[in-house]
Amino acid sequence: MYKSILVPVDILEEELTGNAVKHAVYLAKLSDAKMRLLHVLPISSAIINSYALGYPELKDKASVKAEEDLKKLADSIDLPVGQVSYSIAFGSPRDEIAVVASEVSADLIVIGSRRPNITTHLLGSNASGIVRYANTCVLVVR
Ligand code: ADP
Repeated sequence: MYKSILVPVDILEEELTGNAVKHAVYLAKLSDAKMRLLHVLPISSAIINSYALGYPELKDKASVKAEEDLKKLADSIDLPVGQVSYSIAFGSPRDEIAVVASEVSADLIVIGSRRPNITTHLLGSNASGIVRYANTCVLVVR
């Protein structure tokens, strides 16, 4: 059924991430789908400077840390190597997730609904933006 599942993760929110990842892995196994983990970082001045100076490979601490965390998460996932990949992007989660979804031809996006400590909304602001802007099915995990 699914060929490419995109899992945008807020790596600072382990509980939320773990839950959404569990559902995504289950679905990926069922249909042999590829899985892409993605974390979107705000555009920092360090990043802008490294590009302006012509050294885009000089990454700031936040992106290095995000990539390390994503690698750890990817390594912990019980799917064959090659079936899981990860990447980071810069900008607004809503827009960048739509861009990567089309890059990987995602046919499903799996997200968490909101931070567990925020009780006033049933759907967080990022989650609702992703749902509204996606061209594909979105599974919101609670
Ligand atoms: P809250 O508003 O309670 O923080 P969010 O709407 O921000 O909830 O988060 C819900 C989901 O949106 C997360 O579980 C994750 O799937 C996705 N998400 C949020 N922030 C990011 C981010 N920076 N990068 C990738 N995905 C994100």
